[in-house]
Amino acid sequence: MNDHQTWTRVLEIINGKTNPVIIVSATARTTRQLREAAALAASGQVNEAQELCTSIKERHQELIMSFLEHHPHPKNQLIADSCQARINQVMGSLDKLLMYINRQEKLSPQLKDAVLSIGEQLSAYLFAQCGLAMDILTHYIDARKIIRTDSEFGRANPNTGLIYQKALALESVMDGGFIPVIGGFYGESDTGMITTLGFEGSDYSASLIGAALQADSIEIWTDVSGVYTSDPRFIPKAKPIAELSYFDATEMAYFGARVLHPSTLKPAQERNIPVWVKNMFAPDDHGTKIIRSVESGKDVLALSFKENMAIITITAYETLMGFDFLTRVFHALQELRIPVDAVNTTESSVTIALSDGAHIEQLTRSFIALGTVSTTTHKGLITLIGCTFDQTQTIKERVLGALPDVTIDMISYTKEKRIFNVVLEHDLLVDTSRNIHDALFLS
Ligand code: ASP
Ligand code: MG
Repeated sequence: MNDHQTWTRVLEIINGKTNPVIIVSATARTTRQLREAAALAASGQVNEAQELCTSIKERHQELIMSFLEHHPHPKNQLIADSCQARINQVMGSLDKLLMYINRQEKLSPQLKDAVLSIGEQLSAYLFAQCGLAMDILTHYIDARKIIRTDSEFGRANPNTGLIYQKALALESVMDGGFIPVIGGFYGESDTGMITTLGFEGSDYSASLIGAALQADSIEIWTDVSGVYTSDPRFIPKAKPIAELSYFDATEMAYFGARVLHPSTLKPAQERNIPVWVKNMFAPDDHGTKIIRSVESGKDVLALSFKENMAIITITAYETLMGFDFLTRVFHALQELRIPVDAVNTTESSVTIALSDGAHIEQLTRSFIALGTVSTTTHKGLITLIGCTFDQTQTIKERVLGALPDVTIDMISYTKEKRIFNVVLEHDLLVDTSRNIHDALFLS
């Protein structure tokens, strides 16, 4: 959300709801700029970091000014003053954080979370104030009072029991006739530190709070009309999917469909609350409804793809071959907390596909103790989700038939999980994904 018209539109949507609770994410670009500012401060570039802060600050000030200009209200001076006070206070604490990071010359995960949470600390408060200018009784509540987590900074795990208990406070706010407005994405650890829930964590916050309150529905209002058959930025013919099961939607989030955080649906699913993904710029579009079970009748639901993949094959030393070889391979992954995307095994070897990055070297070092290791990078992964093709002829015609004649590095298919993976050269990834997508979804 980044301009006053969008805020107006969202407030109008809220106005049409019964007993809503609002979770707000940061304004556009803010989280990214905060991330950059923290990295700059850690590497001694304080001035550059401060320039980013100035741009964040000015953007929010302008947003509030134009919003209030377009919504004349007797309380506007009060609202403007309290917004400015909040901006000064939050930006002041950001400045202190960045100075501290600069002195430390490194960025600890704790401090990074504190910095990243600034976007939502700002947007949620300002948004609640703007509601008042439209005579909507929005009431800001600090997420730290409700979203309690462990101390895994960067991707903290919520303490649902405690959250459910803390969320009761929201009910008394609502009983008073107010609409609670809470910043998404961040919370507080049991040691009192700010934590964040990971990428797209605001949706996760919404699901947690919706589940805590046993809401009738959880709605994620974003800038696309739902969860698509593939990433519309790269696959122009991708279409929104009308209905998805929790299971398939979660699977899609894991495999890189960017709309949802992989854990978002868990709390909703546990309480069987439907989750809608809707477009705030096209509120009449159907969007995607995510529920327990869906009879889609489709033989494949979506295609996702992931760039910058690496493939590692570990071939066991003869002396180590035996029942614990696989265990030790997965143990190494667990120790370094590295998620994998696809695995193929033979009796004496394992091949894993995973995101490329600094961890590959570390991982290789642990694997060397188990066997010979060969690593190739610059790969791409294409995943078909909800894929019920189990006849060779269908796979041949509908999937492999759409592949150009290229070298395939790895294929895996699991009937039970309905996942079909192909790993191939990175440079072919997008074109091939487009071909397969169009062959599967447009025919
Ligand atoms: N602002 C956070 C992010 O960019 C959280 C969110 O938008 O959901 O990931
Ligand atoms: Mg979001």
